[in-house]
Amino acid sequence: MRKTAAVSGLIILVLSSLIAVPVNAATKSGNNLSVKQKIVYVALTPAAEPDFWTADPVDSVTTNSDGAQLNFVKMAVSNAMEFWTRASNGKMKFNPPTFFVGKAGTAIKHCASSADVKSAMKIAKMKSIPVGTHLVVANINDNCGYAGLGAFSGNTVNLAVLSSGTLTHELGHNFGYRHSSSLYCKNSDYAKFDSKNCSVDEYGDFRDLMGNDDWCPKATLSATQRAITFGTPAAKDIKLGSIISVDESRSKSENIVYQLKYKGVWYFFEYSNPQRELCTYLGGMSYTPEIQVRVLGPNWTFAKGDSVGPMIIGRYEKELAAPVIPQEKDGMIMLPPSGGWILRGFKAGEKFQLPGAPFTLGVFTTDTGTATFSVTKSG
Ligand SMILES: [Zn+2]
Repeated sequence: MRKTAAVSGLIILVLSSLIAVPVNAATKSGNNLSVKQKIVYVALTPAAEPDFWTADPVDSVTTNSDGAQLNFVKMAVSNAMEFWTRASNGKMKFNPPTFFVGKAGTAIKHCASSADVKSAMKIAKMKSIPVGTHLVVANINDNCGYAGLGAFSGNTVNLAVLSSGTLTHELGHNFGYRHSSSLYCKNSDYAKFDSKNCSVDEYGDFRDLMGNDDWCPKATLSATQRAITFGTPAAKDIKLGSIISVDESRSKSENIVYQLKYKGVWYFFEYSNPQRELCTYLGGMSYTPEIQVRVLGPNWTFAKGDSVGPMIIGRYEKELAAPVIPQEKDGMIMLPPSGGWILRGFKAGEKFQLPGAPFTLGVFTTDTGTATFSVTKSG
């Protein structure tokens, strides 16, 4: 689901399965990532706007043609397929999509996703949805309050918003993705790691559009998300005490994410250069290279949302004992924003006690494209 308060029973199913299997979670029979995927797109039409999908309105200001809605959604489908091909390192393959437009009156103002799916199957003349096929149903009159609704490891997507970002996000749920979440413990102090002291923002990871970033041509998922669900590439196990070099998370390298498990909780480490990787600009964020730490589990964190995935650790610099962002870089003075820097990663020179585990992260270097760090036993 995308940016909404509404809740889907389908996505709630996630919780029991995600706790035990963070790496390469097996998909249910509704989908199978090893077969070629196919998008069947059914555009439902409002009664009042019979030519909604095919009209070609001309912008009165620029006098440019805005293009038909149908062309717009074909572009969104192409963008989403390109995104998932890239995020899976080519593991995911797609057959050409097909498009159907329902006759006027099929886009009904109601909140009935499964009725819309049924109506779409009729329009596409489908008796069932084959494994690997994703039936995408666009109903711009849907009034459920969500932009889109995917089915965890399933094969349907309901859309009220027609953008590339919404379609890409919902397909992610079909492929087995949970949300890119964030974690924050009071006063940026992670020593007390429990449900009372810490909060989870289910969509809080700015890194990708399973969280709160949007779609753009260069968009990918965090290396952690890719490792957990697709294994493209799989995360490498950390050897305590050794110096680890990690490459930029959007690069083609196999060295983009490391993992550590302690008492059922997974810790993931990746390099990020937010300035290069994000599609949207966020004020107050530190935009210099860093090591990002994401945590999957423990159980109380999953209970803080409908589909909580890996949570990026967030801090506020003003709450730390000492500043970590250099005040001067390459001879330029870097003034912090008025509210202080928002930190979503760890900079060279930092040490950080991992929440809920007796290990310490030490970051040595954060250069352009690569960083070095180690994880050692605390004490
Ligand atoms: Zn979602």
